[in-house]
Amino acid sequence: MARLSQRMVALGTARSEIREAFAFAQARAAVVGPENVDDFSIGNPSVPAPPSVAETIHRLVDEIDPVALHGYTPAQGAPDVRQALAEDLNGRFGTSYDKDCLYLTVGAAASLCCCLSAMGCEGDEFITFAPYFPEYKVFVESAGGKLIAVPADIEDFQIDFAAFEQALSPNTKAVIINTPNNPTGVVYSRKTVEKLGRMLEDKSREYGHTIYLISDEPYREISYADEPLPWVPSYYANTLICYSYSKSLSLPGQRIGYVLVPRTVEDFDLVYAAIAGAGRALGYVCAPALFQLVAARCAGQTADISIYKKNRDVLLNALREMGYTCAQPDGAFYLFPRTPEPDAKAFCEKAKAYDLVLVPGDSFGCPGHVRISYCVPTEQILRALPKFRKLADDYGL
Ligand code: PLP
Repeated sequence: MARLSQRMVALGTARSEIREAFAFAQARAAVVGPENVDDFSIGNPSVPAPPSVAETIHRLVDEIDPVALHGYTPAQGAPDVRQALAEDLNGRFGTSYDKDCLYLTVGAAASLCCCLSAMGCEGDEFITFAPYFPEYKVFVESAGGKLIAVPADIEDFQIDFAAFEQALSPNTKAVIINTPNNPTGVVYSRKTVEKLGRMLEDKSREYGHTIYLISDEPYREISYADEPLPWVPSYYANTLICYSYSKSLSLPGQRIGYVLVPRTVEDFDLVYAAIAGAGRALGYVCAPALFQLVAARCAGQTADISIYKKNRDVLLNALREMGYTCAQPDGAFYLFPRTPEPDAKAFCEKAKAYDLVLVPGDSFGCPGHVRISYCVPTEQILRALPKFRKLADDYGL
């Protein structure tokens, strides 16, 4: 038998529960017809990219010499692209970043892997907050670290600071946050981010080393909150931002994003160099050249997120009216209601009997809840409401 990495064999063999649910929906659709299956399993944007994306691609293909257009760029991304992205951020957040603060990547997943590999040393712990994006565990362990998940505050999914304090230790290398959040849709308040920043400053001082904050922000622009989202580096100097255009511009298959390293980060030059080194070691080479240019020209724009907001309103209001409990989801395109029985997997099995496909919260480190991805046509939501109602009735809500 081939001598292979057993860890990689296991990662390549085991399907995530999200993929399992999606595969179930596809299989059922083939039997009963897609119009009878309501699949809320996957976070693939349902709103098309804004028209400016296609226009930009056409213009770039027409105007730029193909050898240059499709060629390698510097590993960190084309300088003019990085400058344009820095200026877009400066215009929106009142910051003063420059091209050398940005390292372009193949999406937020790669941004996270670069940051984690840049930092991960033997014995390092990385803390995150349940419920969390399941790939964090894979990425952290690949970087040689250990993921510690702080239990959720299920009332509002802000941070439980007492539980967080217990999770911190002299081995803590970094803390990963994700706001707006997958799977809850919750947006961290300014108060939460402020308190987190203060606590990380105190603990960095106490332990005598910097604790980095990795802010995973692929949903940054998908916010329905009244207030603008807090700009995390304004509250903690040692913040690295992992961003991507997968969700904001509906370009998940094109793989384009960045790591932002503000100059306030301690040992800025070394940190940036380590991220570049991680990109090299992971074999990313450079981010896709065409989509670097698309990002530069379309930065600051978004797909039509009013469609997600409408979906959120329709589904959230209906579920609450049926008796489901759900923390206020002011961003991304997910709801994370409590399941009427503690066993979320059993609840999802009952939903499947109605061809209603949901993902148990266990996959995100938070049992007793279910994730509903509402990046689907609004008609699907309207069609699925009677199924949610039947389930509510089955549980006597
Ligand atoms: N982080 C979170 C919280 C996500 O939900 C996702 C994708 O769904 C990612 C990172 C990875 O995004 P990307 O497509 O940019 O790699």
